[in-house]
Amino acid sequence: MGFSFDLTGRTALVTGASSGLGERFGRILAASGAKVALAARRADRLEALAQRIGPSAAAVQMDVAREADVIAGYDAAEAAFGTVVDTVIANAGIDGAGLATEMPEDEIEHTLNVNLKGAILTAREGARRMMAAGVGADGRKGGRIVLIASITAFEASPGLVAYSASKAGVVQAAKSLAREWARKGICINTISPGYIRTAINDAWFDTDPGKAQVARWPRKRLMGQEGLDAMLLFLCSDAAEFVTGADFVLDDGQTL
Ligand code: NAP
Repeated sequence: MGFSFDLTGRTALVTGASSGLGERFGRILAASGAKVALAARRADRLEALAQRIGPSAAAVQMDVAREADVIAGYDAAEAAFGTVVDTVIANAGIDGAGLATEMPEDEIEHTLNVNLKGAILTAREGARRMMAAGVGADGRKGGRIVLIASITAFEASPGLVAYSASKAGVVQAAKSLAREWARKGICINTISPGYIRTAINDAWFDTDPGKAQVARWPRKRLMGQEGLDAMLLFLCSDAAEFVTGADFVLDDGQTL
């Protein structure tokens, strides 16, 4: 018996690493021994984070909604570390708030493009390269892909139609991809976090309706970013060998 969440020997790519949860994921993965490519559009923020983490991190500019960018981002990560990426965190996302009757078409499209298409493009490019490199074959470490969804994938969320539909799509995409790659040495799962204060919702939780929302939750508090750490490390570790196509709601009881 015995298991470890030590990620030494793994090479990870985290999208949306220039802010919030993705920035934390990058730091946590590096602290657990992985090499980490930090991906997003704002290169200056990624460079600053990579400097803080040290030689095990590299900044990779990438817009997840554009396939050419995603491919170039993986190329840059492989060039930086000299090895294939075997651990992917598709975390990049935008809030896409707006009433269904009022939201402009291009905002609906942009939300779906970044949150849903971006997660699929990120996952499949990673998987293509893992399969080509034989990740998970002949006793080698298996590939790990984690997509960040949201409790809004399961809850009715007025004013979040595009966002919540994109996140429900992310959960179902992961299940479909898990089935498609079941014998390819890759585990792919989703984490569905509850509300955590980051740049994506900072302004909302300072408003009266935002404060009222927190007051309605059983624990009457916003969960901290550290609430996702252990699940992230588990899903990226060898210990998650038998976990694929699963979703994990981590919400401090917000949906109870
Ligand atoms: P955040 O602080 O606003 O971070 C979002 C990240 O996504 C940024 O690093 C941003 O970087 C990146 N991003 C946005 N558009 C992108 C694009 N086209 N290509 C590449 N990167 C892009 O928000 P967060 O709260 O950490 O959100 C991270 C993920 O968690 C999102 O998928 C979000 O939906 C999900 N989530 C958050 C909560 C919460 O309460 N905070 C709850 C459930 C789920 P650039 O602008 O530099 O590209």
